[in-house]
Amino acid sequence: MTQATARQSPTTSEGDIADAIAATRATFESRRTSPLSWRRAQLRGLERMLTEHADRVHDALLSDLGKNATEAHLTEVTAVVQEARLLRRKLRRWTKERRRRTSPLIGTSRASIQRQPLGPVLIIGPWNYPINLVLVPLAGAIAAGNTAVLKPSELAPASSRLLAELVPQYLDPTAVRVVEGGVDETTRLLEEPWGRILYTGNSKVGSIVMEAAAKHLTPVTLELGGKSPLWIDDSVSIKSAARSIAWGKFTNCGQTCVAPDYVLTTRRVAGELARELTAAIEEFYGAEPRLSPDYGRIVNERHAERLAGLLGAGELVTGGDVDIDSRYVAPTVLVGVSREDAIMQEEIFGPILPIVVVDDLDAAIDVINERPHPLALYAYTRRRRVKKALSARTQSGGLTFNTAVAQLSVPHLPFGGVGNSGMGAYRGEQSIRTFSHERSVLHKTRGVDSTRAVHPPHSRWKERVVTKASTRMLP
Ligand code: NAD
Repeated sequence: MTQATARQSPTTSEGDIADAIAATRATFESRRTSPLSWRRAQLRGLERMLTEHADRVHDALLSDLGKNATEAHLTEVTAVVQEARLLRRKLRRWTKERRRRTSPLIGTSRASIQRQPLGPVLIIGPWNYPINLVLVPLAGAIAAGNTAVLKPSELAPASSRLLAELVPQYLDPTAVRVVEGGVDETTRLLEEPWGRILYTGNSKVGSIVMEAAAKHLTPVTLELGGKSPLWIDDSVSIKSAARSIAWGKFTNCGQTCVAPDYVLTTRRVAGELARELTAAIEEFYGAEPRLSPDYGRIVNERHAERLAGLLGAGELVTGGDVDIDSRYVAPTVLVGVSREDAIMQEEIFGPILPIVVVDDLDAAIDVINERPHPLALYAYTRRRRVKKALSARTQSGGLTFNTAVAQLSVPHLPFGGVGNSGMGAYRGEQSIRTFSHERSVLHKTRGVDSTRAVHPPHSRWKERVVTKASTRMLP
């Protein structure tokens, strides 16, 4: 067995997959998951699962990605617990039927929107935040009253195993199931109709998911990636910005979907930024990051090799060491990288930060706009003019000023991409919307139905009534 094969999760048998599909479907159809009491109990179960087994989550993440325990706790355990807690506390408010104004044409009536669960949902997760990116969507799915099948990434085998072991102990096993495996198992799951599929991963597989979903007209939420640009100008402290950028970039060894992928700045700023990034890296991880317990590893040898192939562009400022066997890629900064270099053609998804020098903000906006819409767009600036220009002249999943990655700690901001970086979003109330159908309900309460004014035979009198009613309907 090669090392690469050894780093794959075990697979769930065809019989168990069929059973997971049948169970989640039957439970949904029984409507047992609708009462808020059931949903609250599941969210509590999720919170308990993570808090009681935080150490095991840390160990799994250390094994899969060399993640430091503090980082694992913050970005995976706490992230899930906070999301589940928020949804539990706001459950009544976010799921209640909402009244809407009705139409005078109908006379006395009541209009409302009811948030109804969609059915069993399929959540397909990636390897980079293998617990968070399966369980945060799950919290939304159960809060909205759905059942769910979870398919964690086979490339984070320890996390996948742990989920398969713990989920049945803490959550209703007839409503939430874990299916382990890779392409074959996911392909099998994609043959089924679902209430929704939420997929997180790369855009190529995103297309495969969408194509499979189209067969059943299953709605999809695609949480994809891409190259997230970062603009910085001389209106901010370059030293503080460099620390913030280094944290956003090198956390999880650069394997974060919203990590700044590349920097755009002027020649004036580039040199100072390169020096301050070097200092920040040394401050965080010491002179030899390989020895730092706080610095992670690349998920597998294949990705480490891919990253090694991206080095060589521009001028090396710091880093550049790669050890494929131990999946180590040093935190690396390259300056003077050109837009045509290989590193600028694909999402880096690793600890290499190229700095691309441009003439000014307009040129930076051109670079951003000549590429697919990114998931995140960052700017370190105090200038209102710059903020307004980026806001008005670019498109991206999110826009963040003067911090990096930390936008994910705001659960009230929906998280999702646009164009190549994804479709749909989730987190907080947006998760309830994503995993619900907003059903329009109209209730004619009493009185004569004034729609008789539109029944034939038509007359001048009826026309006047309809015109008057339609004018009153205008907002
Ligand atoms: P991955 O290889 O773990 O794949 C993701 C999932 O897709 C896995 O569960 C895998 O089993 C499944 N899969 C893989 N190939 C498949 C196929 N042919 N058919 C069906 N299913 C298949 O993860 P990845 O794609 O390497 O993840 C990295 C990418 O994900 C990056 O582009 C990153 O930016 C993006 N990402 C996005 C977000 C977000 O929230 N927007 C979060 C994390 C990662």
